[in-house]
Amino acid sequence: MKGSILVISGPSGSGKSSLMQELLKQIPDSYFSISSTTRSIREGEVDGVNYHFISKTEFENDIDAGFFLEWAKVHDNYYGTSLKPILKELHEGKLVVCDIDVQGHKIAREKLGNFMTSVFITTPHQKSLKERLDKRGTDSDEVIQKRLLNAVSEMTRMREYDYVLINDDFDKTLMQLLCIARASRAKMTLMDSGEFLSQWANIE
Ligand code: 5GP
Repeated sequence: MKGSILVISGPSGSGKSSLMQELLKQIPDSYFSISSTTRSIREGEVDGVNYHFISKTEFENDIDAGFFLEWAKVHDNYYGTSLKPILKELHEGKLVVCDIDVQGHKIAREKLGNFMTSVFITTPHQKSLKERLDKRGTDSDEVIQKRLLNAVSEMTRMREYDYVLINDDFDKTLMQLLCIARASRAKMTLMDSGEFLSQWANIE
């Protein structure tokens, strides 16, 4: 497999979705891994583009069928990454971008760690996260409260990541993310160094 995986995690409201969208536009051979979820669709989201929105029963059947590279329960809903499309895109040499939470990152790393670079994106303070969630206006106060609580526990696991980005300025953070994404393609563990060395030493 010639491709690589870029896992992006961070609290809801950290700005990671907008950063990811821009990254996907600027890196032509990138592919966004569309997760499945049981949460309800938000205004502006499109089924099959942002997520595959499926029922709890469908999700549980997919778990039993071994469909997922990883799955987790986040904010009372299931979220999961399908394995098959990721393997296909890796074989085609793509940069596969996955938006997954801290639980999913741990599992995916155990299974495909050699192909993976991970980035944790957050805000400078918890206060700025709350302001962003309030401003987004997509969630009720109760859901925002849940997301803030979840953010506190996610923050305690940021050390498990290769990189951390404090998103206090969109353009600056995007630049850093693009640098990480491009450098991730040259990771030593992606290379079959045995084969490369034998070709490299062949002087004919
Ligand atoms: P949201 O509901 O705001 O779109 O996402 C909530 C959380 O679920 C985010 O932290 C996001 O990273 C995470 N998430 C999205 N897709 C997946 C997935 O496929 N697997 C896991 N483990 N988490 C996911």
